[in-house]
Amino acid sequence: MPGYHSPQVPAQVRLNTNESPEPPPPGFSASLSRRLSSLAFNRYPDRDARELREAIASLHGVAADEVFCGNGSNEVLQCLLLAYGGPGRRALVFEPTYALHGHIARLTGTEVVVAERGEDFRLVPEEAVATLGRLAREAGPGAPEVVLLCSPNNPTGLAEAPEAVEAVVGAAPGLVVLDEAYAQFSPWSALEGRPLDARLAVVRTFSKTWALAACRLGYVIADPEVIEACERVALPYHLSALVQAAGLAALEWREEMEERARRLVAERERLLGELRRLAVDVWPSDANFVLLRPQGRPGREVWRALLEQSVLVRDVGGWPRLKDCLRVTVGTAAENDRFLAALDAALRA
Ligand SMILES: *Cc1c(COP(=O)(O)O)cnc(C)c1O
Repeated sequence: MPGYHSPQVPAQVRLNTNESPEPPPPGFSASLSRRLSSLAFNRYPDRDARELREAIASLHGVAADEVFCGNGSNEVLQCLLLAYGGPGRRALVFEPTYALHGHIARLTGTEVVVAERGEDFRLVPEEAVATLGRLAREAGPGAPEVVLLCSPNNPTGLAEAPEAVEAVVGAAPGLVVLDEAYAQFSPWSALEGRPLDARLAVVRTFSKTWALAACRLGYVIADPEVIEACERVALPYHLSALVQAAGLAALEWREEMEERARRLVAERERLLGELRRLAVDVWPSDANFVLLRPQGRPGREVWRALLEQSVLVRDVGGWPRLKDCLRVTVGTAAENDRFLAALDAALRA
C-alpha cells in the first residue's frame, strides 16, 4: 500500500497545505518560554493532559472528560479508528474528501466503503441515508461501524448543511466522526448550539486557525465513552509536555486567533472575486482554501507554471471527480496577489 505524501517543495509563496499564513501573536512565544522554563523535563508528561483538556473543554463549554488530545488531529483520527474500526469493520467516506480519512482507516485494517457527494460536492442527505440502509442490509445491522464526514470538506471547500449531518447521525448504526479542521472559517459548527449526540465525535486541530501546524496538536470532543476508548488505544504518554505547553499558550490568544480567521475569510472572498475574472472554474468555499480548475488547460501544467514563479499550490487532480483541479490556500494579501499574478501569467502563456 502506498504512503500518504504531500510534497514539500521549496517556494517563496507556499499555499499548498492550508496552514495559517501568519505566525501566532508575539505574546505566544513569551508565554511558551515561561511554561517551558518551569517544566520538569526529567519526568514523564501528564498522561491525561489534564490542564490542556480543561482549557479546551472550557473553550467549547463541555467537560474535560469529553475531550481527548493527540499529536495532530490525524493521530486523533487514528485513535478513533483503532478503537471503532479494525478488521471486519467498515468505515464509510464520501468522495471526494480528505484523503487521509480513507488512508488512516486502511492503516488500522478497517475496510473503506466509498460513497459519493452530490453535484455541488456536498452530501445529499437522502442518498447518504440510503447508502447507510444498503450497507446494513448487505453487511449486517452494525455496518458501517464508522462514518467519516468533513465539514467544511477538504479539498472541495463547502461546509455540509447541518440537516445533512443530522440525517447521517440519525441513520448511522455506529460512530460518526465529523472532521471540523476548518470550522472557524465556516458559517456553522456542530460544537455550537445543541448538545452533541452520543454517536457524534467532532475533531478539531491547532494546525490551521491556531497557527500551530509545527506543534502537531488536535483533539476530539465526544461522549466520555468515546474519549475512554481513545485513551485505551493511545500509546502511554503520547502527548509530550512540550505540545501540551504549546496548546495552553496558544489558547491564551483566542481573540487574536478569531481576528486572524476573520481576516482570512475576507481575503478568501476577495480571492474568489478575483478568480472569477480569470479563465478558471472556481467553487465557493467555507474554509481557508479555494478549489479551482483552469479552463482548457491541464491542471498539472498550470501547477508547474505557478511553481516556476515560486508559487506552490496543491495539485488535487488525482482525487475522484477532481481531474485538473488545483487547491490554493488563502494566504496573506501579498501572497494572494503573488498567486493571482502568477496564475494570470500562467493562463496567458
Ligand atoms: C489539515 C487537516 C487536518 C489537520 O491535521 P493535523 O494532523 O491536525 O495537522 C485534519 N483534517 C483535515 C480535513 C485537514 O484538512
